[in-house]
Amino acid sequence: MSAGDWSVEGKAALVTGASRGIGRAIAVRLAEMGARVACVATRADNCSDTVSACLEHTEGAAAYGVDVSSTDAVAELVKEVQSEFGAIDILVNNAGITQDQLLLRMTEDDFDRVVDVNLKGSWNFLKAAARPLMKSGGRVINISSVVGVTGNAGQANYAASKAGVIGLTRSVAKELAGRGVCVNAVAPGFIETDMTSEISGAAAEQLQASIPLGRVGSASEIADAVAWLAGPGGAYVTGQTIIVDGGLSLGG
Ligand code: NAP
Repeated sequence: MSAGDWSVEGKAALVTGASRGIGRAIAVRLAEMGARVACVATRADNCSDTVSACLEHTEGAAAYGVDVSSTDAVAELVKEVQSEFGAIDILVNNAGITQDQLLLRMTEDDFDRVVDVNLKGSWNFLKAAARPLMKSGGRVINISSVVGVTGNAGQANYAASKAGVIGLTRSVAKELAGRGVCVNAVAPGFIETDMTSEISGAAAEQLQASIPLGRVGSASEIADAVAWLAGPGGAYVTGQTIIVDGGLSLGG
């Protein structure tokens, strides 16, 4: 399929972590592009506002609740979305959590929970949605993080999960390329959302000073990259990780 044959208009997109932050911005951006959007968070209620915002631009949007780390529950949810939307053409694995702690203080639960949600959660959706994606020669965008590339003190669990997302992306891209499915990752830097709201004062200033472009990013700047990968421009791109971080990963 060439770039000219693919349009997001009318496509069925599933976005996890769509209740707020980056996921909400992605869901609304895909709706603006004409996609019908299945918005997923821990509880369907949490996505009500996102669904209302999507419905201002598209005729189809609905909210779903699931714990992305539960393989069986995700399989059921994907079946439900597929039957209600008739397809799954675009999958955005965005749901994620942090449980930061220095290695010496990090518990087994801190490690397991973050890997289960961030890495296994993405695998759960890829596995459950692979067949519908292959049917339409669809698009997958996995949200990694710049720390999955650079590492970060205090985030061994999170950085490992996000590096895992990059390996998952590259491997599944190779497996599904023959079926016309493009699988890519976007690795955000420091983006202003609930996840980063606890970083304030001197720590926030120091972090900001380390970003070559001199400011934190916005959720809509991550949605821009996802929209490009999901749209006609992404037709000949697979297995890649696009870093959107204001230059943070360039180092000092
Ligand atoms: P956020 O504002 O904290 O939102 C997290 C989203 O994930 C919410 O929709 C939440 O749903 C959902 N979620 C969390 N655990 C879940 C679970 N077990 N099952 C289903 N849904 C779950 O986060 P964000 O900052 O927008 O981050 C979005 C993604 O970008 C994450 O993967 C994050 O790691 C990545 N990222 C963020 C930054 C940043 O600076 N913000 C940087 C790099 C990468 P509920 O509302 O129902 O809890």
